[in-house]
Amino acid sequence: MTSALDYVRPEIAALSAYHVADATGLIKLDAMENPFGLPPDLQAELGRRLAVAALNRYPDPHGGGLKARLREAFAIPATAGVLLGNGSDEIITLICQALARPGAKLLAAEPSFVMYRMNAVFSRLDYVGVPLRPDFALDLPAMLAAMALHQPAVVFLSYPNNPTGPRYARAEVEAILAQAPGLVVVDEAYTAFADDSLMALAGEHPRLLVMRTLSKLGLAGIRLGYAAAQPQWIDQLDKVRPPYNVNVLTQVAAMFALEHKAVFDQQALLLRQERARLAEGLAGMAGVTVFPSEANFVLARVPDAPRCFAALKAAGILIKNLHGAHPLLQHCLRFTVGTPDENSRVLSSLPACL
Ligand code: PMP
Repeated sequence: MTSALDYVRPEIAALSAYHVADATGLIKLDAMENPFGLPPDLQAELGRRLAVAALNRYPDPHGGGLKARLREAFAIPATAGVLLGNGSDEIITLICQALARPGAKLLAAEPSFVMYRMNAVFSRLDYVGVPLRPDFALDLPAMLAAMALHQPAVVFLSYPNNPTGPRYARAEVEAILAQAPGLVVVDEAYTAFADDSLMALAGEHPRLLVMRTLSKLGLAGIRLGYAAAQPQWIDQLDKVRPPYNVNVLTQVAAMFALEHKAVFDQQALLLRQERARLAEGLAGMAGVTVFPSEANFVLARVPDAPRCFAALKAAGILIKNLHGAHPLLQHCLRFTVGTPDENSRVLSSLPACL
């Protein structure tokens, strides 16, 4: 009898699929989503726009109108090219596909976003992980030494880093950029909640690609990621992009959302304030260590993460248990910042769960 395992690549067979927990009936604080959603009047207006979208036609293959709007909204330098993806997940895939010469390597600080490593496997790039320091700062000497040894085709840095929260020191990222032999992807998925960005250098620096997403800003459902880099990179990456990767509904919804960007900016501001309140509340609990965050989540180490995770879930709150995901994440839990009420529920429920 034919078995898929006789044909599927062994390294794919050895993987587990990206895990998404069932959040039915729970307060969902596991996936860094914006908890607010669109106000009702904007929902109605968006509905009218989507109703007249030309669904019988393929989308604009280049997303020209949307790129122009993104440039304006997010101050993408005129010297940079722009690439659109079905989420930034797809942009990671495109980068790996384009760079996967035989023997090429992908280097990342770890723990970081799991899709860097998974895409290395998908594309047959050799993966090199360089551990962060115990406080989740970059280990710059180790990064530079690994880069000199392995000569990676691409380095991925999440700025700020998921799942840890801190933003690396800018000077260290610049030192990596200065010494990297190939492409450096600065993944700014959490830029709406962060105090620094390298976007102004995209287009100027020959090895920098700044990658972003609308997901964390409040549009995870539409799946839109974008990248900015010198046209010499974007033009090549564009060749591996499926021609209609950003669908008509996404293009219309993103254009609409960017017209109303102030609404999302206001929500991000509130989430930053709530992040501070959540972090402070967690830090005040006996046995809990909180790590500084410039993203819309807070990482905390608790005495017994699996027990705490299960007890919070029983109390109706779903967060992310990272215990076991990486040696540096022993007994760590990640709390996405929710609405003020949701965060209050976390703070009032947690002491009994520790
Ligand atoms: N980069 C980082 C650092 C992330 O945390 C995530 C989502 N968790 C992504 C990229 C992917 O985001 P999306 O595909 O929704 O754009």
